Amino acid sequence: MKGLRQSGGVKNIRALTFDLDDTLWDNRPVLLAAEQTLYDWLSIHYPRITDRYTLVAMREMRMRLVLQQPDLGHNMTELRKTSLRLAADSVGYDHQLVEPAFAVFIEARHQINLFDDVLPVLQRLKQAGYRIGSMTNGNADVNRLGLGHVFDFSLTAESVGIGKPHPLMFEVACRHAEVSPKQLAHVGDDPATDLLGGRTAGVKTIWMNRHGAPKTEGLTMDAEIASMSDLLPLFRLV
Ligand SMILES: [Mg+2]
Repeated sequence: MKGLRQSGGVKNIRALTFDLDDTLWDNRPVLLAAEQTLYDWLSIHYPRITDRYTLVAMREMRMRLVLQQPDLGHNMTELRKTSLRLAADSVGYDHQLVEPAFAVFIEARHQINLFDDVLPVLQRLKQAGYRIGSMTNGNADVNRLGLGHVFDFSLTAESVGIGKPHPLMFEVACRHAEVSPKQLAHVGDDPATDLLGGRTAGVKTIWMNRHGAPKTEGLTMDAEIASMSDLLPLFRLV
């Protein structure tokens, strides 16, 4: 935490972007529950799919798809729909199931519980004059979560066309926030996407390390926090 403060970096910062999954809420149980909800729905409405595939087998199918079609790695929605089409084909259903099945999944995928300090800290940062954005490689929609009002702008890999760690997301964020890269701080949990991407793009990086994970060798960051509340002393708001 000290690094950013001591380097004088904080006073230059005018905007912050936040990763969503696993930064603002614990996403693993959300995805597991959403996949189970979809699987249960398929077992009732399209049982030949669940007779053929276990839930794990469907997950493995998606992982194979990303290896075969790397572009799908930037579009979780298209990845899930493509895998549903393949599953339908393989058991003789047509593609009519894809949209209603995806709707069941995406509804469940938005049943998240924000960490308690997320809203108060975002609101405090906004009050202090920082521009606030969200930036995700996933398909969570902040408007659907009732968080649209909190963010000045929201970027997804689907809307930008490529995800973190590609610098484009960060460049687009700077344009939205009307700041230069060194005036933007990005907060995220994933070293490979949030930290590496931010560093490549020349923005300040703040690692959300809630579980005390060891640092990735060779990857530096401007600050490390364990909760949203840790941002307040960092930005001298307490
Ligand atoms: Mg994340």
